[in-house]
This record gives sequence, C-alpha cells and structure tokens, in this order.
Amino acid sequence: MFRLKRISAAALLAVLAIVLGSVSALAEPLKLTIVHVNDWDRLDGERGAGGAARIATIVKDERERNDGEGGLTLVTFGGDMLSPSLLSGIDKGRHMIELSNAIGFSVAVLGNHEFDFGPDILMQRLSEATFPWLAGNLEYKGKPGLPGTKRSVMIEKNGYKIGIFGMLTPATREISSPGDDVVFRSFGETATELAGQLKKDGADIVIALTHEDFRDDLALLLKNSDIDMIFGGHDHLAINWYDGRKMLMKAGSQGTFVGVVEIAVDRIKGRNGPRIVWSPSFNLVNTTDVEPDPEMQAKVQGYLDFLDKQLGTVIGETSLELDTRRASVRTMETAFGNLLADAMRKATGADVAITNGGGIRGDTLYPANTELTRKDVLTELPFGNTTVVLEVSGSALLAALENSVSGVERAKGRFPQVSGLVFAYDPKKAVGGRIVDVKVAGKPLAPDTLYKLATNDFMARGGDGYSAFASAKILVNAKAATLMASQLIDHIVSIGKVSTGIEGRIARIE
Ligand SMILES: [Zn+2]
Repeated sequence: MFRLKRISAAALLAVLAIVLGSVSALAEPLKLTIVHVNDWDRLDGERGAGGAARIATIVKDERERNDGEGGLTLVTFGGDMLSPSLLSGIDKGRHMIELSNAIGFSVAVLGNHEFDFGPDILMQRLSEATFPWLAGNLEYKGKPGLPGTKRSVMIEKNGYKIGIFGMLTPATREISSPGDDVVFRSFGETATELAGQLKKDGADIVIALTHEDFRDDLALLLKNSDIDMIFGGHDHLAINWYDGRKMLMKAGSQGTFVGVVEIAVDRIKGRNGPRIVWSPSFNLVNTTDVEPDPEMQAKVQGYLDFLDKQLGTVIGETSLELDTRRASVRTMETAFGNLLADAMRKATGADVAITNGGGIRGDTLYPANTELTRKDVLTELPFGNTTVVLEVSGSALLAALENSVSGVERAKGRFPQVSGLVFAYDPKKAVGGRIVDVKVAGKPLAPDTLYKLATNDFMARGGDGYSAFASAKILVNAKAATLMASQLIDHIVSIGKVSTGIEGRIARIE
C-alpha cells in the first residue's frame, strides 16, 4: 500500500508549542491538507502514471491520515477534465464527472476544456457533479456566475475559515466554445471583489483556484494582498512556488503528479490583535509507483472495455508512416494532416480544406503498414468537431493563412493542414506578411474570387485566431455538419490504404 513520506512540520510545531508552553497561541492549530490535481482528462492517465485509480489512492490515504488526526482535508481540481479524450468524444465528458464524484473532489474550478461541447452540455455535466464547481469571473446572460457553479465557497473547521474562489482564463473565448451568453471578466477585477468579500466574511486563509498561465497567476498572487495561496492549472506545469508568505502550486497534468500540501494553520496574538500564521510542507507526488485503488481501477476498466468493443474494428491501413506528434502537426505539413484535410474536402465537395494542427491530438507515430482502427481516428480527433462549409473570398483565405503561420515559432495549434491548395511562407518575415505564394487548383489565389472552404466548426467560429472565417457566409453550419472523425473513417474505408505522403502543400522558405 502506498504511503507518503512526510516531514511533518505541523506535528513538530505542535509538539514544540506544547514543550515550550507557547503563550501566544489562541486556539488549537488547524491541520489543513490540500490534495491538488489539474488538467486531467484521460481516465487511465498516461505512461503508467496518473489516472483516476492512482489519484484515488492518494486522496484516500491523505483523508484517512489527516481526517483521523482531526484535520481538514481539501481535494481541489484546477480545471480541464471534460475533454478531450476518446471516450469524451462519445459521452461528452460524463464518465469524468462520474469518476470525479467517486474520487470525491471537495471543489473544482472550470477550465477552458469544460466548454468544448458548448455551455448547454457543460451545465448538464455540472448538474451531475456531487461537488461544487467554481467560476467566479463568468457572467451568464448579464448575471454574475454560470448556472450550476459558485463564485466562491467558505469551508469552516475548528473555528478556522478557509475561503476559496475560482477563475478561469478569459482566453477560453478563443480556444473553446463558450457561446455568446458567457462573458469572461478579468482576473484582477474578479479577485479584488471575491478575495475581498471572503476576507470581509472572516476567511483566515484565502485560496484562489485558477485555470490560467503561471505568469498571470504569479502576477495576481503578488498584486492582491488578500490572496494567500493559488492552486492552478492550464499550462501543465508541475510547480511549487513559495516566498515565505504566499504559495502557488500546480500539479502537472493527467494526475501524473498530485500535489499534497500539509499546512499548520495557527491563530496567534499579534501586535494589532489576533493574526493567522501558517507553515506549509510540500510534496509533488510522482504517481508512477502509486498502487492504483482497486475499486476505482475496476470502474476505469469497465469504461476501457466498453471503448474497445466500440472502437477496435480495423478500417484500413497505411502504407507509409503517419506522424501526429504535437511538434509535427503544429509546425509542418504531415501525411496525416493531408489525409484528414482530403477527407473533409471530399466529404463536402469543397474547393479547399483547412484544419488546425492543434485539433490533431494523438501525439503518435504510426509505422508504415499499421492497421488503422476507429479508435485511432477518435484518438486523433477527440473533440467531436464537425466540418463546416463556408464561402470565403481569396483575401479572407489569405488572411486565414497568415494567421495559420503566425505562431509557428511557438508551435501554436493554429498551424494548418490543408487540401486543395498549396502555399509557401517565410517565417523570418513579420507576422501578417509571411505568406508568399498561394495556389488553389494550380491557379494563383485571386482576392475577389469566392472559394468553397471546408474547415472545422471551431475555426469557423473564429477559434485559434481565425477571425477571417467568423464573418464568412455559412453554407453548411455546425449543427447540420458531419463529424470530422466520421468523415475521416469513411475516407479511410473508401481508399483502403493510405498512400498520400508529404507532397509539398506547405513549403517553408528558409
Ligand atoms: Zn486549460
């Protein structure tokens, strides 16, 4: 059975206080343990670590130990669980809520991926959760908050109050599908309001549960004097930051790391009346050697068996290597990207197809002569996106291509995979002026000509910076459209063997 190795600062302090006969303590110290997970969307984790069953083991162990000692154990989730994954493509994240209920999170904050299936599906999922979800910086139809979420919670134990509020990145507007009814307020403004309110309501410790980049978290923590701790997510960092007064923790992704912070909280006499002091002991547990909880593992296996049955069928094979590694699909033409874009163009009868490399998620190298299954396709396309058809001018297409290569240095997901067109770009040139040559069906792109374009529904709404598509005339809208994954499956079945490689559709000028 797995047990954490602990340097128990809390116990040591308590003993010291008794031995020295501390005169300043006003009450029994609180033994607060926070177990933190973020960015977990794969039910069984990855590379033999993380996943529901290993997370469950740590949560159980910590609860047993700390609750047994009369402490308060909080299990926090830092956002992003409903998507993307193979199974979520089918059940829209329902299994993740069921597993989370079984783990027993105390409180969670929404991440951008919670909006991948739109706000209505999200609200359905929220109604299935047995723990509170926070979304303090959202407004919905002009009112603060989102139905089914709270802006903050206050948890009391032994006369101590722990206030927690939650916020998620406003970039969700561009990188997911929150819809027009959801408004994102800034972190700074929201934190001033909610942390201030928690303080007014008597919080001894104020925790921000966030889903945002580390730099923004740290800036907020240093700026807002009411916030003591941030537990976060979004950038998949496993990080522990502490300056003697404040702390910030993120626990990687997929539960590969689980954060465990033991905090001795004490109320002492200060010069200006009672004040709170706290002393943390940190552990970012690498879960590789953690024994999976058998009960949870059985649940996970049940879902995996279900998936295998659904998806194990062979639909074709590839005569050449297919590369879907993140660093490839986001920086260069790939055979898999060509296959996908061809499938979209063929299924819709469009002149051209453009899809974002960031939507290809398998991160895998398939050797030549690999048999392909439906499962492979859904692993690559877990978002459940549909193929929308737009009518775009040549100039809009050019603007879209400029956007597509604007973040190639940082391997941004907007990098394109294309069909029906070829182009060259020069990454040494300034953003917005990189495209040097575009041909559609062998002819130079004409600014005023209208082209029929197939793209995914996310990009058609302007996602990943494709604002040039958001105002285009819609020929087939997202609701009427077919799943990209189904089009790709149909395409592979119809050709039988994948034989189109990298053929110069995207040329990089060095
Ligand atoms: Zn995120």
